[in-house]
Amino acid sequence: MNWKRNIQVRDLDPGQRLEVTCKSCGHVHYLTREAICSSPEREFLYLDEVERDTVCKARGCRGAVRIAIIGDGPTSAFVGGMA
Ligand SMILES: [Zn+2]
Repeated sequence: MNWKRNIQVRDLDPGQRLEVTCKSCGHVHYLTREAICSSPEREFLYLDEVERDTVCKARGCRGAVRIAIIGDGPTSAFVGGMA
């Protein structure tokens, strides 16, 4: 699936959370559109670029991560309990 190359940060719903899973240690953290947009031009990053740009937040790891959108939009807003 190439959806990460087709979705820009600015396409995300406000409050949409992205699940970020470390490929090295499995640590999970979450990103929001607001968290990604630490500067205005970051709105135009595609999610595959965000993925390359993001590292594991576990202390001392900084491994590569995989990004997943939690649910598939507003209708799945209640799929939050899986973490
Ligand atoms: Zn890690």
